[in-house]
Amino acid sequence: MSHLITNVRVLDGTGRAPFAGAVRVEGNRIAEVIAGAAPTPAGGATVIDGGGGTLMPGLIESHAHIGLADLPSAELTRLPVEEHMLITVRNAKTMLDCGYTSAFSAGAPKPRLDVVLKREIEAGRVPGPRLLANGPEITVTGGLGDTNVLHLPHYETPTFAWVADGPDAIRRVCRLLAREGVDCLKLNLSGDLGTSAWDSEQTPMTDAEVAAAMEVARAGGLRVAAHCRSSESVLMALRHGVEVIYHANYADTRALDALEAARERVFVGPALGITYNLSQAEGRWGVTRERAEAFERELEVSVETVARLRQRGVRVLPGGDYGFPFTPHGTYARDLWLFVKILGFSPMDTLIAATRLGGELMGRPGELGVVTAGALADLLVVDGDPLANIEVLQDRDALRMIMKDGALHKAPAAR
Ligand SMILES: [Zn+2]
Repeated sequence: MSHLITNVRVLDGTGRAPFAGAVRVEGNRIAEVIAGAAPTPAGGATVIDGGGGTLMPGLIESHAHIGLADLPSAELTRLPVEEHMLITVRNAKTMLDCGYTSAFSAGAPKPRLDVVLKREIEAGRVPGPRLLANGPEITVTGGLGDTNVLHLPHYETPTFAWVADGPDAIRRVCRLLAREGVDCLKLNLSGDLGTSAWDSEQTPMTDAEVAAAMEVARAGGLRVAAHCRSSESVLMALRHGVEVIYHANYADTRALDALEAARERVFVGPALGITYNLSQAEGRWGVTRERAEAFERELEVSVETVARLRQRGVRVLPGGDYGFPFTPHGTYARDLWLFVKILGFSPMDTLIAATRLGGELMGRPGELGVVTAGALADLLVVDGDPLANIEVLQDRDALRMIMKDGALHKAPAAR
């Protein structure tokens, strides 16, 4: 199967300025990126008229929760597995419909949701992004995601997160998830604002617990991501070789220095979607003025931290925490807007982070997140110019074409 996509401006994800041209796809890979007028199509190639739109790499979500159901956690944990799997399958399609062709999972609310979804996507039986599958977030008693209450009987079962205390219990959970086929693990090192018995600047998980998880991860070849809002949690994650650090809101100079020293191997995802949306949400979802103000303060600190991370050359990726009532599925590209409007990234730097750096996060540098010969054919054609208007990526109707692995998920409408 070969495709020739003509009449586009190519925004290749590398940082190069866009240029008029065409792209030829053979099978599931980009065969040729052509600047200037398109050549005569080879026999058998399907020609796709890009209508003068922007051709760019598919977007990459660095902190996906495909299994979240846009529900408050009390309702989420009550979802039976049958309904939950179907919702997860629908969310995967939504993600691809939004132009996200790859996703690094930051946790699934039930142990096998991501793993089963990934298997179905790879077999071509359901639509969805390329997925690095995760299991439930691993937390300690009282940590983020421990939704247990003493009077109900599900203590220490995987509900939202999996509660485990001490190295032996942590090792067991990690081995169990490895057995079920996850690609990555998620550890909740720090607390959180208002949803954990420990606050954002506290670090309930211990060195011995993180070390135990890393031992299993190394043995099983698993990637490890961690929820780290506190400075101590960032340092702890780095000490043990955790590669993906989410949030890092309160990273102090010592933690920022450590991140800089590890910048060749770590990624930071600030995942500010929740923080921003709740800072604006007084009166909705039960958010009081006091709580909205607390999120506003967290946002202010985070904006500063991200600026300092960028000065130090640390890879900062958009994406995060979509799937809650206040960050519903389908609004993923809002994070790109946040990068530009709140974090002060240029649209070009935002798009590089959402594509090329995302490809590095997926473990396929040069193959994912770039439009170059030999790369995998995960491509979008956008009606409009995301460099002039980053918000255009929030409009599904503006996505004229969505291609994943050389196959059209969405073909341009006939005119
Ligand atoms: Zn998350």
